[in-house]
Amino acid sequence: MPELFIGGTWTTAVSGQVREIRCPADGTLAGAVDEGGPKDAAAAVAAARDAFDRGPWPATPAVERGRLLLRVADLLERDRAALARAESLDTGKRLVESEYDMDDIASCFRYFGNLTAAGGTDRIVDTGNPEIDSRVVHEPVGVCVLITPWNYPLLQTAWKVAPALGAGNTFVLKPSELTPHTAILLMRLLTEAGLPGGTANLVLGTGPAVGAPLTEDPRVDMVSFTGGLVTGRRIMAAAAPTVKKVALELGGKNPNVVFADADYEAAVDYALTAVFLHSGQVCSAGARLLVQDELHDAFVEDVVARARVIPLGGPFDEHARTGPLISAAHRDKIEAYVAAGIAEGAVLRCGGARPDDPELRDGYYYLPTVLDECTPEMTVVRDESFGPVLTVERFRDEAEAVLLANDTVYGLSGAVWSQDVGRAHRVAARIRAGTVWINDFQPYVPQAEWGGMKQSGFGRELGPAGLAEYQEAKHVWRNL
Ligand code: NAD
Repeated sequence: MPELFIGGTWTTAVSGQVREIRCPADGTLAGAVDEGGPKDAAAAVAAARDAFDRGPWPATPAVERGRLLLRVADLLERDRAALARAESLDTGKRLVESEYDMDDIASCFRYFGNLTAAGGTDRIVDTGNPEIDSRVVHEPVGVCVLITPWNYPLLQTAWKVAPALGAGNTFVLKPSELTPHTAILLMRLLTEAGLPGGTANLVLGTGPAVGAPLTEDPRVDMVSFTGGLVTGRRIMAAAAPTVKKVALELGGKNPNVVFADADYEAAVDYALTAVFLHSGQVCSAGARLLVQDELHDAFVEDVVARARVIPLGGPFDEHARTGPLISAAHRDKIEAYVAAGIAEGAVLRCGGARPDDPELRDGYYYLPTVLDECTPEMTVVRDESFGPVLTVERFRDEAEAVLLANDTVYGLSGAVWSQDVGRAHRVAARIRAGTVWINDFQPYVPQAEWGGMKQSGFGRELGPAGLAEYQEAKHVWRNL
């Protein structure tokens, strides 16, 4: 069946090419999909432009747009098992994690459905002159290009699609070429929910062949991108000549700051989960562990002891606690970072190699790795490796903890562990990141904004600001 969705019709790629998708856990064929190119991208933009300029969606009352998003949430819940399976086959992620993601995705559609249906941000402006009716209304931005990564394929897509539709935009979605299947399934659900043709368009393919032409196209009004820093810079530059609105959700190198007075067991537990969940392929992973001097030795000893025995396995292995990396190339990159860390003076405490279990030989596995005695200038501490690699640095006091936590170009997330509430809030307030957890790691809710400071990007997803990102405020002044 054709997998590109353009102007309400399923179609094959102009080039006639297809791409095989293989599960990173064992090389099982997950499917073969159409591989789009620049001509498909141009056709999809034309369809989205036409649907915005002439189509019913931007003029559909917000209440009805909200209702459609709620129907999509119901359909996502209905198809949870099939969606989770498809996501796990594409990514190699444990099925239980994909199922959890699907619940979050339905919640995201439900949240934006209710927010949209409630209407509400338009307002009357009091000019002080009774002869004037002055109001600020919120309109859709227009044609949005939505570009997403492979680590949380459908979740990152939902964070864009739900508010973009809620605000009345039309869009072209380009998922990662490595993980296309759940985007295809989502298009089917949007259609089933009653979304008019041309409102949602899908083009599969690589960044250079599809993403770049979409970003450059003058008929596009906005690009919302989630992915790596280097690609984010390219997208910002490509959008500049036509002054498109850009929202960037980029990488992170997130500090997990543990004070000596932390709840010890919880802090050890979360230090592990924060970086080894989904093999560290999480933008908000706690990849930099900062431990107070007096706690350092015992704490790292315990983290290492537990990291050594984390069971690795594929999506359907119920004993596995973490899985493979997305590709051979990505594993090569992780290996190079670990080698650089050791060469620059880090002490390898565990991992640093591929597992020797023959059952894992066909997947892109890499052992949970802890590098101790790290310093801020090391490459492995500075760059986002995006793998199961924990670097450990020591700090003496609050002031040094804050300096180390902020010694990064990124600013996506961070965590503070301390039972001294005053101290925890003081440090949290000084960490320059879009999300800070105190005595926890990773939770988020669709009601609260998500996004980065510094080179983790700009713009917000989720929360009221996540909807506003896809709106333009317009002032309408009427002389009565
Ligand atoms: P990536 O930047 O390589 O690719 C992301 C997407 O951009 C893919 O769809 C890709 O095909 C496309 N792309 C590549 N080059 C392009 C170009 N020139 N023009 C337009 N599109 C192009 O990132 P990735 O490896 O897929 O994902 C991992 C990265 O995503 C990590 O850095 C991670 O931190 C980040 N991420 C951030 C968040 C967040 O919320 N901030 C969430 C998830 C992932």
